[in-house]
Amino acid sequence: MNLTHLGWNSRLEQRFEPHRLDGLAPARVVREDRDRYRVNDGAERPAEVSGRFRHEAQSRTDYPAVGDWVAVRSSDADGPVTIVAVLPRSSTFIRHAVGDATEPQVVAANVDTVFVVAGLDADYNPRRIERYVTAAWESGAQPVIVLNKSDLAEDLETRIAETELLAPGVPVVAVSAREALGLDALGAWLTPGSTVALLGMSGVGKSTIVNALLGEERLATNEVRAWDSRGRHTTTHRELVPLPCGAVLIDTPGMRVLQLWTDESALEDTFPEIEMLARECRFRDCRHQSEPGCAVLAAESAGTLEPERLASWRKLQRELRWLAGKQDQRVRLEEQARWRAIHNSMKSHPKLKARGERW
Ligand code: GDP
Ligand code: ZN
Repeated sequence: MNLTHLGWNSRLEQRFEPHRLDGLAPARVVREDRDRYRVNDGAERPAEVSGRFRHEAQSRTDYPAVGDWVAVRSSDADGPVTIVAVLPRSSTFIRHAVGDATEPQVVAANVDTVFVVAGLDADYNPRRIERYVTAAWESGAQPVIVLNKSDLAEDLETRIAETELLAPGVPVVAVSAREALGLDALGAWLTPGSTVALLGMSGVGKSTIVNALLGEERLATNEVRAWDSRGRHTTTHRELVPLPCGAVLIDTPGMRVLQLWTDESALEDTFPEIEMLARECRFRDCRHQSEPGCAVLAAESAGTLEPERLASWRKLQRELRWLAGKQDQRVRLEEQARWRAIHNSMKSHPKLKARGERW
């Protein structure tokens, strides 16, 4: 595959020149998972950052993220390539740390256009649209508001006018992803080589829009055959996908829950009735699956809780847990590395050696 399909252009090539002179090749990060990367430099390969990169990194945000252009050195044909440098980013989505558990982290880089997706159903919430648009501006990307589920809108024209007032200068497009209506209008931003991403609460229709954009190539492009460490055949999810129209889509789990981390009350904002019920559960850490004394399940079977609301709330919870797990894992690995370093320095400590103490 040619790198222009991933958004490479002559401007980037120009900036890359010093790296070329060093014998490095350009590649784009298509997936990031706990410090392991997959990059595409014409073909997709595993990658890791060089020891020097690690040493010189000042913070987590210096590390490669999905969408980054990186300079790589390849070793033997099968092994991972080494990421030596990350090119300056044109836009950066940062997930801020929650509590003091982890450092801020880049969840996507070099996005040109962000489709801020909102649903024209009962969940329509102008304040939330404002927050997403703000997050898009802060990243350096260009926001476009996509009002989805136009098939459900009572008074479409009024809603569009209202939304246009929220964010002057930001284009507003009404679509129905499910009915495949109005999606052509997105073509203005889906130009070959441009990078797009979607932001919006769970349930607004992001996946439906992505599937429509992917069309028939959906499975072929979105999933990658790979082999895990035990040689088993697995399918992994690629987080940067070239679309049939020539644009590149970034769809990372981190992007999906971005707003929840910039605004922790979003979950409660969106599902106040469920959050309220959850406080009545017998167990504080109730997951509302099958626990005794679960107020959420009780409301579900009593029919006082809309099954659709519960389903999208569950989906959101899963996304949050996924992300939390990913963070925990990172903290654990960093902690292990720190202790290994301490143990190693202790082992070689002359006093300890003399006393014959062992670690
Ligand atoms: P995501 O969580 O943002 O990825 O949302 P999904 O794409 O999973 O969609 C959530 C729900 O909204 C699903 O049941 C979709 O079928 C439905 N949906 C998506 N787009 C439309 C639309 O244009 N109109 C209507 N009525 N429903 C839609
Ligand atoms: Zn419960």
